[in-house]
Amino acid sequence: MPAGSGSASRSNAASRRMPDAFFVLDTRSLGRRPGTMRELRRTVTTKDRIGLDLIAIPAGSEVELDLMLQAVSEGVLVTGTVSGETAGECTRCLEPFTAEIELNLTELFAYPDSATEQTTEDDEVHRLVDDTIDLEPVIIDAIGLELPLQPLCSPDCPGLCSECGVRMAIAGSDHGHEILDPRWAGLAKFATESPGSGSPDSGAADKDD
Ligand SMILES: [Zn+2]
Ligand SMILES: [Zn+2]
Repeated sequence: MPAGSGSASRSNAASRRMPDAFFVLDTRSLGRRPGTMRELRRTVTTKDRIGLDLIAIPAGSEVELDLMLQAVSEGVLVTGTVSGETAGECTRCLEPFTAEIELNLTELFAYPDSATEQTTEDDEVHRLVDDTIDLEPVIIDAIGLELPLQPLCSPDCPGLCSECGVRMAIAGSDHGHEILDPRWAGLAKFATESPGSGSPDSGAADKDD
């Protein structure tokens, strides 16, 4: 089967160089005339987890690229958004949660023979390689800056009870424990003895009238 073996070897070569797949963008159709622009929308299924220890875009999840590629004199300027869903663990209540993330990118990829390429280090300005852009390191850096080091399931997560460790979101606002500190015991006794109806102040006010 010559046709079958031919297509197999071609796809092997393609997967090795990965042109225009995943986070690799082929810029050949854009050309090099400064000002030329091309929209690029793509859904990428991540092969690796991207993020921090406690929160990240998991491997195998979908990331939306909504980008504009623009040829400029020194290279290709990529602008737009990368969005996806992160999975994290709340540092207050320790529960897993998911959240949306949207990154705004503005990144220049320099042509191999440009002045920018010759006057900068490749860790300062990204390079085009074989007319392709690899967006993955840019996304990894941007997500690292965007994600919180101490993720929370919600900004007002009440966390855990400091006495018994129960999640306060489940236990309710009236959850509490008897105060065992002897310095507070007298106050606690006073609070249980005087019922909620009427304070000593209101009685005094009535007398004045
Ligand atoms: Zn939480
Ligand atoms: Zn408790």
